[in-house]
Amino acid sequence: MRYISTRGQAPALAFDDVLLAGLARDGGLYLPETWPTRSADEWRRLRGLPYAELATEVMLPFVEGSLTRAELAALAAETYAAFDHPAVAPLVQIDHELWLLELFHGPTIAFKDYALQLLGRLFDHVLTKRGERVMIVGATSGDTGSAAIEACRDRAAIDIVILHPEGRTSEVQRRQMTTVKAANVRNVALKGSFDDCQDLVKAMFADAPFRDEMHLSAVNSINWARIMAQIVYYAAASLALGAPDRPMTFAVPTGNFGNVFAAYAARKMGLPIAKLVVGSNRNDILDRFFKSGEMKMDGVVPTLSPSMDIQISSNFERLLFELCGRDADRLSALMAEFRGTGRFSVTPAMHRAATELFASHKLDDEATLAVIAETRAATGQTIDPHTACGLAAARAHPAGPGIPMVVAATAHPAKFPDAVERATGWRPPLPPHMADLFDREERLTVLPNEIGAVEAFVREARTNGGPA
Ligand SMILES: *Cc1c(COP(=O)(O)O)cnc(C)c1O
Repeated sequence: MRYISTRGQAPALAFDDVLLAGLARDGGLYLPETWPTRSADEWRRLRGLPYAELATEVMLPFVEGSLTRAELAALAAETYAAFDHPAVAPLVQIDHELWLLELFHGPTIAFKDYALQLLGRLFDHVLTKRGERVMIVGATSGDTGSAAIEACRDRAAIDIVILHPEGRTSEVQRRQMTTVKAANVRNVALKGSFDDCQDLVKAMFADAPFRDEMHLSAVNSINWARIMAQIVYYAAASLALGAPDRPMTFAVPTGNFGNVFAAYAARKMGLPIAKLVVGSNRNDILDRFFKSGEMKMDGVVPTLSPSMDIQISSNFERLLFELCGRDADRLSALMAEFRGTGRFSVTPAMHRAATELFASHKLDDEATLAVIAETRAATGQTIDPHTACGLAAARAHPAGPGIPMVVAATAHPAKFPDAVERATGWRPPLPPHMADLFDREERLTVLPNEIGAVEAFVREARTNGGPA
């Protein structure tokens, strides 16, 4: 399998190169040159497989030429054995034809584990084979840092340094990062804001001699391998509910568009997905796009669902490329317009094509709390604020008779206990594997908001982490 860039100016690469590159050299995002498809019969034969085995079957065509079936199967088995539910991504029925797809059974109790846990192992596997080592650097406002750290901890070919703004993450979020006991993990509490953290990470990547010397790398949400790993749970849920002999609908709380794009990819592989419903919070750039055909940047407001507080959905470029008929020049022109003016419009035909498959809905904080409360009262299930945005979107766009609607439950309610308690009067407890989080020892280094200090820290971390 070869991968092409959405901007059309970077060479086509094999899976292992795309994995390590993340972003293409022309600023574009990688997509498979063609979508691998399965016939209805082939999908039917995958019904009932354990999650890790299904993962191997679904992902194999994407890694072809870079990993053998046995290598992929071993990595998938190891990855998903560590999850805390035997089904890995279990379905819970909450209404006549409405299900929750629980994507919070990994180490950091949010859906990013499903891809990042595999990504860490894929990185390690490919780098070890090549005799290389990387230094992963990243900035977090609290949520994604822990998933990246858990993915990279104890990996022989990886060191990781994560910057968070000192005193500006929740205690659960900080502790999920700082209590990880692994020699290759470093946490920096920066005297500054999240934007300062991001600017410093960008500055390190822009410092070419430093970047090359440190072998800097990232595990961004635009990495193709993350999308690939997320296709698996859409396939698992679809097969469990009757695919390929019955159509499905998914509702997905959306920020960077990575998760819902994986559902789109599952459809491209031949699963009968009739509709994809995008749930937004007050940061509603996607909802406005699907309703109007215009993408228009706006400021970000903080909400109860912080992982969806985004200004631009970076993975949307992949869908846009498909809507452009994979015309890289046309896509590049739209992206250039967006960069220059903060807006672009698609043609009526493209907008029609988008809304044939996608629908959208947005929810403000007050309504989010109401949905959490109503769901607990009606079903006994407690959902987190992100999932509430997905559930409201599902209810706003019912699938029709005989078509199951599956809502991606992207975080465990205990990850956002304050919002859940406000909504329901009940504080959800952490799952058993995290119950002692507040007793664990923290390790972090406070640094000033200065590139020199941060680069010196990263250099030192790499030296101590092991040989180059
Ligand atoms: C990251 C995240 C999202 C948004 O997912 P995207 O792939 O960025 O659209 C939704 N919910 C939770 C809990 C998340 O952590």
